[in-house]
Amino acid sequence: MIDHYGRDIDYARISITDRCNLRCVYCMPETGIDKVSCDDILSYEQIVRVCRVLARQGIRKLKITGGEPLARKDVPSLIACLKAIPGIEHVSLTTNGVSLAVVAQELTEAGLDSINISLDTLDPDRYRLLTRRGSVHDVLLGIAGAAAAGIQSIKINCVPIAGMNDQDLVSLAALAQNQDIHVRFIEMMPIGLGKQFRRVEPDLLRKLLEEAYGTMELYRGKLGNGPARYYSLPGFRGKIGFISAVSECFCEKCNRVRLTADGVLKTCLHLDEGVSLLPALSQDNDDLLKQQIGWAIRNKPAKHDFASEASWGMERRMMSQIGG
Ligand code: SAM
Ligand code: SF4
Repeated sequence: MIDHYGRDIDYARISITDRCNLRCVYCMPETGIDKVSCDDILSYEQIVRVCRVLARQGIRKLKITGGEPLARKDVPSLIACLKAIPGIEHVSLTTNGVSLAVVAQELTEAGLDSINISLDTLDPDRYRLLTRRGSVHDVLLGIAGAAAAGIQSIKINCVPIAGMNDQDLVSLAALAQNQDIHVRFIEMMPIGLGKQFRRVEPDLLRKLLEEAYGTMELYRGKLGNGPARYYSLPGFRGKIGFISAVSECFCEKCNRVRLTADGVLKTCLHLDEGVSLLPALSQDNDDLLKQQIGWAIRNKPAKHDFASEASWGMERRMMSQIGG
C-alpha cells in the first residue's frame, strides 16, 4: 500500500510479547516494568488475522519481534501460520538468541526465512553487565544452532555504545569473517532508556574496522528488507552493515509499520502515531480492521524527529514494548 508520501509500505514488524528474559541496559529497566497483562496480549489467532488483512493491504514481509519473542510458547507454530498467508513472501525473527539453540531446528521446519540475533559484545563479563542476566555462551550456541539448522540468512545486530562496548566492536565484526553471517551495527536511538546513552559515530566505527581488516567497499547488492548500508571487507564471507537512523535519516524510504503486543498498529518508530486494532478485532468481519489499517498506513508520519531533543518524550513506550 502506498502512503501519503508515496512510500510503498510492504513490511510489518509484529511484536508478540513485551516480556523478556534479559534486561539490556538501554532497552529495559532492571525492575518496575509495566507489563501488559496476559489477557491484553494478542492471541496467535488475532495476530494471524491482522497479518492476513495486512497482506491484503500489500504487506509482503513480516518480522516477529518482542520483548523476546522466544520467551513466548509455540513460536514455530505461529511462523508456520504466517508463512501460509497468501501474499506473505518472507517471515523473519529477531531474538536475543539466548534460547535459540533448542528451537532453531523447529523454526527452520516451520519455514522461517531469516533470523536476526542481537549481540552487543563477545566479552562474557561485559555481556552480563549489558544484559544484566544473560550468558554470551548461550547466544553463541544459538548462532551455531541457527547455522546448523540451515536458517538461510543469519544477521547479528549490535548496538555500539560509547564507553560500554566500543572496545568490542572490532572483534564482534570478525563473526562475519569465516562464516556466511552478516554483522550489523545499529545506531543507538533516543527512544526509552536509549536517551541516556551515547552513540558511537558510524564514521569512527568504519575507521576502526578498516584499521583492523582493510578497506571497506560499499556492497551494491540487495540484502534484507530494510535500510542497512552494507560493506565488504577483504577476505570476509559475510558483510558488515550499518543502520544509522539518527545520523543518516532514511525515513523517505521507510517501508514499515509495527504491531505492538497489545494490538496497536504503530506507524512511526519515534512518534506515538497509529491506531489500536482491538475494537476492530472484537468484531466478526474484517471490514473495520481493513479500514483502520488502511487509514493508519495512509497517514504514516513523514519522518522521525530524533534531531530535536524536545521531541524525545513523544513516544512513552520502551523499545521492548515496541519491538525495535
Ligand atoms: N529481544 C529481541 C532482540 O533483542 O533482538 C527483539 C526485541 S529488541 C527491542 C530489538 C532490537 O532493538 C535489538 O537488536 C536491540 O538491540 C534494539 N534496541 C533496543 N533499544 C534500542 C535503542 N534505544 N536504539 C537502537 N536499538 C535498540
Ligand atoms: Fe530484551 Fe531485546 Fe530489549 Fe535486550 S534488546 S532487553 S533482549 S527486548
